[in-house]
Amino acid sequence: MNILESHGYKAYFVGGCVRDLLCGHDVGDIDIATSATPDAVQEIFDKVIPVGLEHGTVIVRHAHQSYEVTTFRTDGDYSDQRHPDSVEFMQTIDEDLKRRDFTMNALAMDKEGIIIDLFGGQKDIQRGLIRTVGNGVDRFQEDPLRIIRAVRFASQLGFSIATETLDAMKTAKQEMETIAVERIAHEMEKFFAGANVQIGLDYLHTTAIYKHLPIMKGYPHIIDRVPEPVLPLQSFGAVIAMFHRLEPAVSIHAWVRGWKCSNKVKHEALGLHEAMAHFQTAGLDRWLVYRLDNNCYKAFSALARMFFDSAITYRDVLAMNELLPIKSKQDLALDGTDIKQLFPGAKGGPWMGKLLDKLEQKVVTGHLSNDKNEIRDWIKWHPHDTS
Ligand code: ATP
Ligand code: MG
Repeated sequence: MNILESHGYKAYFVGGCVRDLLCGHDVGDIDIATSATPDAVQEIFDKVIPVGLEHGTVIVRHAHQSYEVTTFRTDGDYSDQRHPDSVEFMQTIDEDLKRRDFTMNALAMDKEGIIIDLFGGQKDIQRGLIRTVGNGVDRFQEDPLRIIRAVRFASQLGFSIATETLDAMKTAKQEMETIAVERIAHEMEKFFAGANVQIGLDYLHTTAIYKHLPIMKGYPHIIDRVPEPVLPLQSFGAVIAMFHRLEPAVSIHAWVRGWKCSNKVKHEALGLHEAMAHFQTAGLDRWLVYRLDNNCYKAFSALARMFFDSAITYRDVLAMNELLPIKSKQDLALDGTDIKQLFPGAKGGPWMGKLLDKLEQKVVTGHLSNDKNEIRDWIKWHPHDTS
C-alpha cells in the first residue's frame, strides 16, 4: 500500500480481511482495493499474476506474500446472473464498496487503520448480523450465489441473518438454479468447514434453500439427519461421505457428478466411506489408518465422533499412523521379483498381486514382520495357487 500510494494511487484493505480483523479472527487472504488500473499495478510491481484482468484483479507477490489487488470498480447489470455485463474502473472507493454483498464485507481500512464504513458494517459485526448492502431481493437476483454466501458466513462466524435479508433470500432462492454448481460447491465447502455448521444448517432448513441444491433437493431429510453435535468438516469429500452415510441410496459417484467435484474429492469421499465401514465393525486399527489418506485423518475423527459417538481424536489417528510398519506397498521388504524367484516354474499373473495384497495386510496388522527372510518363510509354509 505504501508503494501504491507513493505512485499517487489510493489503496485500502477490503473485504474478508477487514471483517476478520474486526471479529478478532485470524486473517486469511489479504485483498487490496486501489485506484491504480491493473496495467499500472503491473508496471509498479515486479511479480504480478494477472488472474482476473477483466474484473480488474491481479495478484501481487511482494516480500513472499500474495495480495489480491483489485481496481476500484462498479459492476454493470448482471443479465446472466453470473458476471456483470461490464465493469467500470473508478477513482474512489465508495462505488466499489457499494457492489459488495454484505455490510460486514463492505468495509475498507487504510494503512493507518482508519475504517471506511458506509453501510453500518461495524455495528452489524458487533451485533453479529449478516445484512445485504442495499435491497436484498435486488442484490440476490443480481447474483444468487450471495444467498449461499449468507448461510456460509452464518456457519463460519455464528452470525444471524437480518430478518429483511432472510426474507429476501426466501423470495429470490429459486434464482439459485441458474448459477454454476462449481461456484455453489466452493461456498458449501466453506459452509461445512465452519465452526457453527449447526446454525448454517438451521438456515438451510428454515429458508428451504436446500430445495435448490443438487441432490439435496431430492432428499430433504438428510439436512435434518446430520448427527449432532455437527462438527466442522474440512473437505468436501468428508461432506459427501457424511451425506452418503445418511442416504446410501445416493452413491458417492452420484454426489460427485451432481456437484461436479474433482477426482480428489471423490477419492477422499470413497476413502472416508471405507474407513467408516471398517470402523463400525473393527474399530480404529492399523489397517484402517494405513488405508486412509493422511489428509483425511481430521475429517475421519470428526465423522467417527458424529456417527459412532466415538471419543477418538485426530491425535489418536496420528498415533496409530506412527505404529505402521510400512506406509505403502512399496515399503514391503519383498517385491514381485522376489516372489518370482520363490516360484521358479510359475508364470506371472494375478496370483502374484493377490499374494502381495495378503503380505501387505499381514505386515500392516503386525502378523508378519517386514523382513525378507520371515516373509519368504511364511510364503514357503503357506501353499499358493500360482495358476
Ligand atoms: P473468505 O475469508 O472466506 O475469503 P471473503 O469475505 O474474503 O471471505 P471472498 O469470496 O474472498 O470472501 O470475497 C472477497 C470480498 O469480495 C468479499 O468480502 C466481498 O466484499 C466481495 N465479494 C465476493 N463475492 C461477492 C459476490 N458474489 N457479490 C458481491 N460481493 C462479493
Ligand atoms: Mg477472501
